Amino acid sequence: MNSILQKRVDDIRNRIQNALCSCGRRSDDITLIAVSKTVPAETIKAGIHSGLSIFGENYIQEAKQKIDTIADPSVTWHFIGHLQSNKAKYAVRLFDLIHTVDSLKLAAELDRQAQKNNKLQNILLQVNVGMEASKSGVSPNDVLDLTRSISCLNHVKIKGLMTIPPVYNSPERVAPYFQNLRKLRDMIREENIPNVEMNELSMGMTGDFEVAIREGATLIRIGTAIFGERE
Ligand SMILES: *Cc1c(COP(=O)(O)O)cnc(C)c1O
Repeated sequence: MNSILQKRVDDIRNRIQNALCSCGRRSDDITLIAVSKTVPAETIKAGIHSGLSIFGENYIQEAKQKIDTIADPSVTWHFIGHLQSNKAKYAVRLFDLIHTVDSLKLAAELDRQAQKNNKLQNILLQVNVGMEASKSGVSPNDVLDLTRSISCLNHVKIKGLMTIPPVYNSPERVAPYFQNLRKLRDMIREENIPNVEMNELSMGMTGDFEVAIREGATLIRIGTAIFGERE
């Protein structure tokens, strides 16, 4: 397993390099998040051994167990699943970056919990660029207003935007959604809202990360290409 994992990690790093190079970007403006939902702690440890250092988890309960088991201070954890306000407490304790904030209510609860923990909680706003009923995320029309409201909270800090685009079998078809997320980020950034840093774009998964890199992704979330198919 270890050598298979090492090979997959090396392959992904090479593909990231190639994607960056072919659009003239520098290699240090991208962060690889290894999506480890459903992956056992032992395999994550092997991943750490293979050079991975940032992991993305979707479920609070599962993440808490694995983070406690692995207990490695050199590793950081990102939350990328749907977050309910009543789990905000745990999310603040466990995660450096929460990618999926899509309401003032959730942000306010994260703010409250972060204050209790003496923490400044970094967050991204999840945008539903495809306007799909089945997906969470704020609609593109509301993201500026939401950014302004959240900017008034002192214990959360907006670092950028995240999206999960509609599923297509051709990665090129998702490019317009990535472009829209980037335009939204640039538009909000120009507003220079105090306490808001609109630099990050969390977009791109196993099937489409090369397109996402070309369209400006700064954080890519890759599960299957590293850990194999999930059950
Ligand atoms: C599961 C998941 C991923 C990883 O998807 P892969 O296709 O396995 O790379 C990325 N982002 C989110 C939000 C996920 O839930």
